[in-house]
Amino acid sequence: MKLQLLPTTFDEFGRATAQQHLACFVIDDCVAIDAGSLAMAASEIQREKIRDIVLTHAHLDHIAGLPLFVDDLFASLKKPIRVHAAPEVIETLERDVFNWSVYPRFSELNNQYGEVLNYRPFQSEKVFQAAHLDFKAVEVNHKVPSVGFIISDKKTKIALSGDTAEMNKFWSAVNKEKNLDALLVECAFPDNLKDLAYSSHHLTPKILRAELGKFRHRNCPIFAINLKPMYRQQIVSELEDLQIENLEILEVGRVYDF
Ligand SMILES: [Zn+2]
Repeated sequence: MKLQLLPTTFDEFGRATAQQHLACFVIDDCVAIDAGSLAMAASEIQREKIRDIVLTHAHLDHIAGLPLFVDDLFASLKKPIRVHAAPEVIETLERDVFNWSVYPRFSELNNQYGEVLNYRPFQSEKVFQAAHLDFKAVEVNHKVPSVGFIISDKKTKIALSGDTAEMNKFWSAVNKEKNLDALLVECAFPDNLKDLAYSSHHLTPKILRAELGKFRHRNCPIFAINLKPMYRQQIVSELEDLQIENLEILEVGRVYDF
């Protein structure tokens, strides 16, 4: 299973920077988890192949690239883009984004081949398919309805938390899996902003370390994701100081093969 966190911002020479402003993880060039930078940073191959987009929640940094991605492909889509999301997230997208005042309601529009955007609501803890992948959504603890995922291609299995504060359902679902090849878990704020992390339902390095006490897959590689760009250096050095076993920061743009 190949996984890539798409870049968000570029330096003055056009090179991707390490900062993660937006969340968009692409698996095997054909399924996107969240769509933060999807329209802006997907490769030509990814643009051709991605027709399944799976959302953790509806916050802007996770959906910003979705309306533009559909728009860019509008005329050429021979099959609709399938947006897999919890019913509450679909409701938010239709009410607050694809509402004709922020952007067109693509779910009501057709191109010459038919529909362009098709919603696939999923239920928590029930397996659903997106392209060749099996997904299981598990509720996490964020400010709005949000899920993490356990994702499998039958050979490899990974788990991704999305945005969250302390959680239990996610850990118990992940611990039930026999094998896990990678865990991607958020760490949005540095420790001195733990009050802000609590009120906005995010993790800090120390809270993450405590959370990982609930994680049972001892040798599984762990990758920190969704670091707020403004505090990135501080979060990285705090995580280094904690010396959490098997933990590294997921690099923007790098293709990981799990
Ligand atoms: Zn969020």
